Amino acid sequence: MPARVLDGPSVAAAIRTSVAPEVQSFTAAAGRPPALGIVLVGDDPASEIYVRNKVKAGGDSGLRVDLQRLPATATIDQLLVLVRELNESPDHDGILVQSPLPAGMGRGAAQRVFDAINPAKDVDGFNPLNVGRLAQGRPFLAPCTPSGVMVMLDHFGIPIAGARAVVLGRSDIVGRPMALLLLARDATVTVCHSKTKGIAAVAAEADIVVAAIGRAGFVTREFIKPGAAVIDVGINRITDRAEAAALLGEHSPRVADFDRRGSVVVGDVHPEVADVASALTPVPGGVGPLTIAMLLKNTVAAARARAGV
Ligand code: NAP
Repeated sequence: MPARVLDGPSVAAAIRTSVAPEVQSFTAAAGRPPALGIVLVGDDPASEIYVRNKVKAGGDSGLRVDLQRLPATATIDQLLVLVRELNESPDHDGILVQSPLPAGMGRGAAQRVFDAINPAKDVDGFNPLNVGRLAQGRPFLAPCTPSGVMVMLDHFGIPIAGARAVVLGRSDIVGRPMALLLLARDATVTVCHSKTKGIAAVAAEADIVVAAIGRAGFVTREFIKPGAAVIDVGINRITDRAEAAALLGEHSPRVADFDRRGSVVVGDVHPEVADVASALTPVPGGVGPLTIAMLLKNTVAAARARAGV
């Protein structure tokens, strides 16, 4: 039987519904809506789209979202000045500096920004204080994408406590916080990365596999224990038709999409996994929509915490 499809938009809608009364009550009590300050540096087209979606989603949910822009030539010091202003602003509850920063800002620029953001307003959850809280098993503002995965697992009734979980990838944005969130919920967690030996056999012990590697179709059938739940965080754009046809099948409607658009987005999980897993998130339409929903949730949580609610 093919895997149950864990669709992201329905979970994202449930998150937004759960946030709505909190937005209303905060706005009534504070005399202003929860507010998010976003800083966008440069003109990376993908970042423009992400930021536009965040501004729209915030507005649709009754939040105030202020976007400040800096040119691609801005220095890290100019960016840190903006961050400090937002840190001190009484009217902003959350701060988000869109990644990636222009390469010209230098290595380590993103970490300097994360270090500078007021932990109470750190809605991305990348400040070391919030990372530390997560590592101690008492997350407050945790990174949005892995937090969204946790909501998804709960939403679809996938048991976490006692489950064997394997996280593929150990980035600060997805893999590591994902592992810590699962551990905080009493899963038995293994983290795999590019140096892991026998990675497929390690993954095949898991009840829950979370793939966050950034390699199209890397997770094949032999990675998955029959009946496991598989969460595909990967977002990979394929621009080679032969690669798309090999992965998706020549007669797949998604290859027809490729022929219209010249590219197609796929996850880290091979489509054949649907024959083995009990549940699987599609790409697109799986984890992707959860990230922005969790950003709204974190902003409201930060606003309520700052107001002592
Ligand atoms: P990243 O920073 O590039 O990290 C990739 C991780 O995968 C690293 O830990 C790396 O190991 C590991 N890895 C790479 N190749 C591997 C291999 N052949 N075998 C085993 N491990 C391997 O990527 P990321 O930011 O975590 O993102 C991962 C994927 O999720 C990307 O496709 C990204 O687009 C997607 N993503 C989606 C969302 C969303 O849905 N909203 C959000 C964020 C990211 P090492 O540490 O050893 O190098």
